[in-house]
Amino acid sequence: MTVRDFAQGPVAQDWVDRSLRSVWHPCTQMQHHESLPLVAISRGQGAWLFDHDGGRYLDAISSWWVNVLGHANPRINAQLKAQLDQLEHVMLAGFTHEPVVALSEKLSELTDQTLGHCFYASDGASAVEIALKMSFHFWRNSGRAQKQEFVCLQGSYHGETLGALAVTDVQLFRDAYGPLLNRAHVAATPDARSAQPHESAAEVALRAAAQVETLLQERAGHIAAVIVEPLVQCATGMAMYDAVYLQRLRQLCDQYQVHLIADEIAVGCGRTGTFFACEQAGIWPDFICLSKGISGGYLPLSLVMTRDEIYQGFYSSDVSRGFLHSHSYTGNPLACRAALATLQIFEEDNVLAQNQDRAKRLSEALKPLAQHERVQHFRHKGMIWAFDVEVEKPMEAEFARRCFMRGLEHEILLRPIGTSVYLMPPYCLDEEETQHLADSTLAVVEQVLDGR
Ligand SMILES: *Cc1c(COP(=O)(O)O)cnc(C)c1O
Repeated sequence: MTVRDFAQGPVAQDWVDRSLRSVWHPCTQMQHHESLPLVAISRGQGAWLFDHDGGRYLDAISSWWVNVLGHANPRINAQLKAQLDQLEHVMLAGFTHEPVVALSEKLSELTDQTLGHCFYASDGASAVEIALKMSFHFWRNSGRAQKQEFVCLQGSYHGETLGALAVTDVQLFRDAYGPLLNRAHVAATPDARSAQPHESAAEVALRAAAQVETLLQERAGHIAAVIVEPLVQCATGMAMYDAVYLQRLRQLCDQYQVHLIADEIAVGCGRTGTFFACEQAGIWPDFICLSKGISGGYLPLSLVMTRDEIYQGFYSSDVSRGFLHSHSYTGNPLACRAALATLQIFEEDNVLAQNQDRAKRLSEALKPLAQHERVQHFRHKGMIWAFDVEVEKPMEAEFARRCFMRGLEHEILLRPIGTSVYLMPPYCLDEEETQHLADSTLAVVEQVLDGR
């Protein structure tokens, strides 16, 4: 395994300096960059990112979970280039185009036509806003305007615009922006890690679902929808839970006439092993939000899929009964083309089946980490691996940043969430890359635990 001192040459350093003066980076306390490196990337290829100085980093987290089929994928590139010469963009009100129609039909097919209507936006948070608004507006159109409240889960993350933050349970955000939010009900997480002694993951899930039932018994008349990330709550530390939770939730939502919104922005597109995570529970929600991987990680694209019954609830001669929502770049043809190219590769290469082999190889290579004495709750679902590292208190706040820095030296891009380390690689790792990923992750964790 190569270990390379992380250092940037003069060209890269110039970009970094200029970036720090002019670009306000997301999810970043900018002052940390006084000691934390900012890395200037010049190109990507497959699972790798390259800097200006011959350094390379295995993208172990698919660049914030978006890049599912590798960087600069030649097949996606070719289709995008052709689309670029054909039509770069046209507004989607009053107009339509082949890529958006083909994509909507394809996605609908993937749900056996159950969720046959696609509404488009550009980022994940907007998709969540759309699902919330659509649910509320549907009930209003049905003469039940008092259904205005939402239920989310403890440890949920659904994006950072105000509507999405209202259904997000992250202490840091709540402390900062709470006064601006119309907060949702927060129900217990089905996180399998919260099992009591001798309790199975399914029992934890059913215990959590019982709490939702109590809430619905009391307030269903005021509740429009429950929003969940199916199978894995990603952004708050890859909390995995039993599929029986989704089955129970589906029953409860039917029983109490409340919508079920599945935020598959992170878990969709094959990440948990099936194309949609909900498939593993054998249920369909009333709304699915997709973004991140759907465009192969190429272009901002998000969408909400819903049932015909919901669609019909808006169908009328009255403008105010129509769904009132739009974005300038809704259904952008380039982004839709990237999505179509991505879905075509899923089909042609049988990506989901191949991922089973990839997952087996990586799980095998990660055994030394899984057995490490300071590693707890090693968990895995589809193409997501995660574990919690037992870190001494004073190190906790620093842990993630140190892993990131040590990762650069070990040619890997890692961004733990607190003390939970996770891997969400693109679906293109070969055997050598798989070994590199496992070896580097172990080396990084050991170094950081050693106080380096
Ligand atoms: C990333 C994410 C979002 C927000 O998507 P953005 O494109 O970042 O706005 C919403 N929900 C989940 C589950 C996500 O992982």
